[in-house]
Amino acid sequence: MAELDLEKLLEADRRHLLHPLHHPKDHVNPHIWVRGEGAVVWDARGREYLDGLSGLWNVHVGHGRSELAEAAAAQMRTLAYYSGYIGSTNIPAIQLAERLSRLAYPRLNTVFFTTGGAESNETAFKTARFYWKAKNKPDKVKVISRWQGYHGVTLAAMSATGIEPFWKRFEPRLPGFHHVPSPYSYRFSGARQGESVGLAAARMLEEAIVREGADTVGAFLAEPVQGAGGVIVPPADYFPKVREICSRYDVLFIADEVITGFGRTGRWFGLSHWDVEPDIMTFAKGITSGYLPLGGMMVSDEIAATLNSVAPEDRWMHSLTYSCHPTCCAVALKNLEIIEREGLVERAEAMGKRLLAGLGTLESVEIVGEVRGLGLMAGVELVEDRASRKPFDPKLKVGDTLRRALEERGLFTRSRNDVILLAPPLIIREEQVDRIVELLRTSIVALREQLVSPLQSKQRQDP
Ligand code: PMP
Repeated sequence: MAELDLEKLLEADRRHLLHPLHHPKDHVNPHIWVRGEGAVVWDARGREYLDGLSGLWNVHVGHGRSELAEAAAAQMRTLAYYSGYIGSTNIPAIQLAERLSRLAYPRLNTVFFTTGGAESNETAFKTARFYWKAKNKPDKVKVISRWQGYHGVTLAAMSATGIEPFWKRFEPRLPGFHHVPSPYSYRFSGARQGESVGLAAARMLEEAIVREGADTVGAFLAEPVQGAGGVIVPPADYFPKVREICSRYDVLFIADEVITGFGRTGRWFGLSHWDVEPDIMTFAKGITSGYLPLGGMMVSDEIAATLNSVAPEDRWMHSLTYSCHPTCCAVALKNLEIIEREGLVERAEAMGKRLLAGLGTLESVEIVGEVRGLGLMAGVELVEDRASRKPFDPKLKVGDTLRRALEERGLFTRSRNDVILLAPPLIIREEQVDRIVELLRTSIVALREQLVSPLQSKQRQDP
């Protein structure tokens, strides 16, 4: 990179680029990422980092896979792109759809391709509306989702997202989007005597459906494990009960498997941990390991049959230029082949257990409130007081301070409030998992010293 003037590049970046979550204050000294290999990435200054979040929860097979580059090049040389609008199709899209129906939940056998997560959820909301209109229930348009849920930030997806800072400067949200508590065991309140967190959270969904009127609620949307909201793993009794409630009230259950899909949790898809099937599944990220943009929605045979049953003039008028993109689908096929060939779903389970066991030992440091996770998704939640679970004053930005300390030590990841988020590539090696744990230990112990010393010196000064 010596031939490039980095300062000039950054000047041009600041002048000409808007980044996701844009603010110039957080872009004074950004990384210019230039290379990746396995679970490691390098920036233009030659600094090396362990990739703690697989890019953005998506680089399942790791960086630097030339096999995927070759799959893209081969398809581009043959037919890079052609429209997939009705009346046209292409071989990679057909083969990928067929492959997905074998991999996904038994009742889901029909795919619509998008280019990312938010588009997939938008597609699912519209499909739910379409389905209920076709079923002569045109008022079933509302969507219930959960606090701490992240579903993308286009207008409807943002309205479903249950993390308020994403709304703040973009209000009003779309009407008809409602939120219920997620079964966030560590911070859940409202369970009745003898009621488990999972059943209480499911009851709150039922109450919301009844309150809104079941004849107005079209869908319930949930991530099997909430990712960006803080890696919140549901108790085992939650999703089976949710499934029962959705079926009872004729509410379509949309599983947002954008993060949990394709092996991340140690299963191909997240809900299978609890033997539950959704009516619609949305996916993105891991399907191509991020090598090209691709996402999509899978629907149940019943929904597919309904879409096929309407008169031509009442058709599902939904579309995207890049639906069925041949090159993206070719890369996805090769990526799924790698995941299967290298046993990466099983590897995610094994490495996830190792990571969680390692992180579990950090619970002896007094500012660590909870360590949680499933497969290769983990969260470490920091608290001021472990006994009462009292969070730190948000003004202290403790999570962000820890994230930056980790970065200085060579682990790059993200945080949500005071939860450090971890989701390294599924190909991560044992010693790299152990290194993540050690970097966290060193950084958390140092942070605790930093936080506790001012407190102690204050106590010493107090008469
Ligand atoms: N759903 C979930 C569960 C996600 O984690 C994300 C992105 N992190 C999205 C949807 C949105 O995906 P995209 O950024 O591709 O629109």
